[in-house]
Amino acid sequence: AKQAGRGCFAYFSEELTIAVRKRIALEDRLRKAIEQRELRVFYQPQIDIASNRIIGAEALVRWQSPVDGLIAPVNFIPIAEETGLIIAIGEWVLRETCRQGRLWLAAGFSPLTLAVNVSPHQFRRCDISALVEKILAETGFPAGLLELELTESGLMDNQDKAVEVLNNLRSQGVRLAIDDFGTGYSSLAYLKRFPVDVLKIDKSFIDDIPHLQDDMEITATIIAMGHTLGFQVLAEGVETHVQLAFLREKGCDAYQGYFTSKPVPADEFTELLRAQQKE
Ligand code: C2E
Ligand code: CA
Ligand code: CA
Ligand code: CA
Repeated sequence: AKQAGRGCFAYFSEELTIAVRKRIALEDRLRKAIEQRELRVFYQPQIDIASNRIIGAEALVRWQSPVDGLIAPVNFIPIAEETGLIIAIGEWVLRETCRQGRLWLAAGFSPLTLAVNVSPHQFRRCDISALVEKILAETGFPAGLLELELTESGLMDNQDKAVEVLNNLRSQGVRLAIDDFGTGYSSLAYLKRFPVDVLKIDKSFIDDIPHLQDDMEITATIIAMGHTLGFQVLAEGVETHVQLAFLREKGCDAYQGYFTSKPVPADEFTELLRAQQKE
């Protein structure tokens, strides 16, 4: 048994060394990727359910690696969050999105709300309201068209501080959304404390509509409750006509999902806006 134990230990430690090396290598590559401008922002349309029109977009980061091609955020955001690189990435995404938003305005498209994700680490560790103020001034993008998506976990651990930061952002005119709503603590008590504008119903509740009765009830309840409390409600991950019809029937305000479009580069998003203009 002792022998086996030692064997196991050696085996695990070797595995661990490989994992640690890979991690450090990835961190190093990611650091260089930021410097060498390999990050890209993709935009996924947000659609008003009543009018069927694009009213905004969520900005989603990708890593265009010259070696590995387009890398999805799931493969680098977690490590960026752990190492603190998310602060530099988040700042870059915010600036790039506001810069692009200003271009769309200048091109004469009707005003779009652009939603940018703020990670829990970024929310806790950097002065997000000062950063937003600086970037809005720099880019000339209107505060009222910027929406920040925050997760419940990022807000919960220091609620008083969170409320202060949110109020500060609100006083600049920035809109606030709770991302992945329904997956975290989701207590009604905290919702009342936080000055937010939008609840984004998590994709996991939408996925199994119309097959799971529970998910349909939860979704309908979030919409009704959200409206009672004065929030707009957006559903994410809408892939089918049936899901959209259900959301429309329940009075959901807006949605995003592959049913309309995947996240696309800015030039492709411009084409979507052009097509809509012609309608
Ligand atoms: P999220 O904020 O919940 O973003 C929504 C994710 O759902 C996106 O994945 C989007 O492409 C995907 N999605 C939207 N509609 C559908 C659909 O109909 N079907 C399916 N299967 N997926 C759909 P993505 O772009 O891979 O991003 C994954 C996560 O990475 C995001 O989840 C967010 O947590 C994080 N992330 C992405 N960009 C940023 C960023 O700039 N900053 C931070 N902090 N996190 C980011
Ligand atoms: Ca999001
Ligand atoms: Ca989400
Ligand atoms: Ca998510």
